[in-house]
Order: sequence, then C-alpha cells, then structure tokens
Amino acid sequence: MRATVMYGAGDIRIENVPDPTVIEPSDAVVRVTRACICGSDLWPYKTLEHSETGRVMGHEAIGVVEVVGADVRTLKQGDLVVMPFAFSDGTCMFCHDGLHTACVHGGFFGTGVVDGAQAEAVRVPQADGTLFVLPVGEDDALMPSLLTLSDVMGTGHHAAVAAKVGPGKTVAVVGDGAVGLCGVIAAKRLGAEQIILLGRHADRIALAREFGATDIVSARGNEAVERVRELTDGYGVHSVLECVGLEQSELTSIEIARPGGAVGRVGVPQDETMPASRPAFYNNISVSGGPAPVRAYIDELLPDVLEGRIDPGRVFDRVIGLEEVPEGYRAMNDREAIKVMVKP
Ligand SMILES: [Zn+2]
Repeated sequence: MRATVMYGAGDIRIENVPDPTVIEPSDAVVRVTRACICGSDLWPYKTLEHSETGRVMGHEAIGVVEVVGADVRTLKQGDLVVMPFAFSDGTCMFCHDGLHTACVHGGFFGTGVVDGAQAEAVRVPQADGTLFVLPVGEDDALMPSLLTLSDVMGTGHHAAVAAKVGPGKTVAVVGDGAVGLCGVIAAKRLGAEQIILLGRHADRIALAREFGATDIVSARGNEAVERVRELTDGYGVHSVLECVGLEQSELTSIEIARPGGAVGRVGVPQDETMPASRPAFYNNISVSGGPAPVRAYIDELLPDVLEGRIDPGRVFDRVIGLEEVPEGYRAMNDREAIKVMVKP
C-alpha cells in the first residue's frame, strides 16, 4: 500500500510499504477513507532527526474495518469507524476513569511504535477499546466534522474541561490553529460568556468569530496580557486554553489567568520546563491538561455533530490525495492552510 513516511525534518515521502495485517488477536485493520495532517505533525516536520527507516505518519482517521483479530468482539468487517489518535483497551482503570491516553495497554499512532494513518490502511491495536463505530455512511456530508472527533475537536474540548470552562465564565484561547478554533467551539458549547482568541491570522480569526469568539487579541507578550486585562475589567480570565505549546504561549496563558483561574494545556510542550511558576503560585492558578482522551469524549460530542449544533469540520480548508501529503505539510507549516484533509 501507499503511505506517508517521514525520514527526518522536512523529508516526507509517499512510498510503498507492506500492507498492515493483524498481529495481535485484539487488532483490526482499517482501510482509511479520511485522514488529516495535525499541527502536532509539524513539530517532527521541523525537528525530527534523520533515520534510515522513517516513520509512517498520521494519527487521525476515519475508515472501514477490513479485518478483525480473533479476540475482537464489538467490530465487524464493513463498520465505519473513527480512530482516536491514541489506542486504548477501554477496560483498564485509567480507561474507566475516562483517561484513555493513560491506558496501561495504550499508545499513540504514527510515533514509530505503531504506524500512522496517512496511508491507505492502518493496523489498530486494542481495536474494541479504540475504535468508535459511526452511525452514518462512508461519504456522509458530516465527514469533516466527524473526522475532528479523532483529535482536534476532542482536544479543544479537553482544553476547555481542564481550564474549568462553564456557564458565564470568561475564557481566553491561546493559539488559532485547528485545536484553538475547536477550543472556541468547546468554550461556547460549555456556556462561556466571553471568549477571547489570541491569534494573528485573518482567515483563522474570521472562523473563530463564527465559532463564537467575542474578542480577538493579535498582540503578543506583555501587550497581549495588557489587552486581555483591558477586556476583562483588569482581572484576567477564568479559563485559559493553551493550544500552542511554546514557552511564550505558556507564559502568556498564566499571565492572563485571573487569580484562582485555570489553564488547560493541550499544545504539546516543546520545552522541558514550564515558565511562570511564581505568578502561577501567587495567583493560585490551576495548571492542568495533557494528551486529550478523545475516545472518552466521542460519546458526548457526537450527538452535537450529528444534530448540527457544532460544525468543527470547517477547520479543514484543503482536501488532498495521499500523493500530495508532502505539499500538505508544507502548506500547513507555511500557514497557508489551517488544516488539511487527506482522502487516500
Ligand atoms: Zn485502558
């Protein structure tokens, strides 16, 4: 089959690789009907050390179950499924707690351990626990929004939950990528009264306003902090969704939270240490978040997608074939595209 292989920073090739097969009896093989490129794929795109073997990329997909292993009970050939970016057994203590990204038998797609889904097909470990069967057809008009349940919508929701967003709260979303935009949707969905987006790209800002952002701050650093304070009677916001992962965005997130506020982090941190320890301490700011257990959130978010209350699929502004994936990475990295959908 054809698959996206990253050999090092900037070196992405579409190649023939062996077809995935059932290895463990709990595996399924899924034919990918939709995949996408993630903002987090851009970190290895910029920094991955060269290797001879490469890494099959991609961790967000919808597809059709082709083969199931002998122990798979809840899935059958022909089921249309969402593949969350992490696999999980659905039965361990952490899965029961709704934290599937800490599953004791879990792991992440496209990280080199398990091959990714920017490919014609993918092997899914722990298939019963991982995959979610969709009640629609393969070419349903809602496909873009359903695809976001594999990562960005669930991740934006996780940021909002970690940041304790609720009715009447003031919220800031740091970052205008697909996750930040989904964070705006999530904040509005959870009842936020004021939603301030910190972002700089005109196309993303326009979409954020349609999703429910009430204010936009395009400044950075101290100026951004000042601006958010002005917008909140000088206090700062109750909830900050940190959707970038850089030192500057983490610092800003803590500085714009009001005393007693909360920061929900979902941007993959690019540094070992977290800034602003002292302001976080003296202002009693909760800092939470991490890899989103998107598998846990599908139950809650799916009805809103199916019934049209949220439309996160609008973050996709480009659709490409598998052979064009290297160009898709470039377009996202150069901020020409918000998020790229791949139809293998
Ligand atoms: Zn588990």
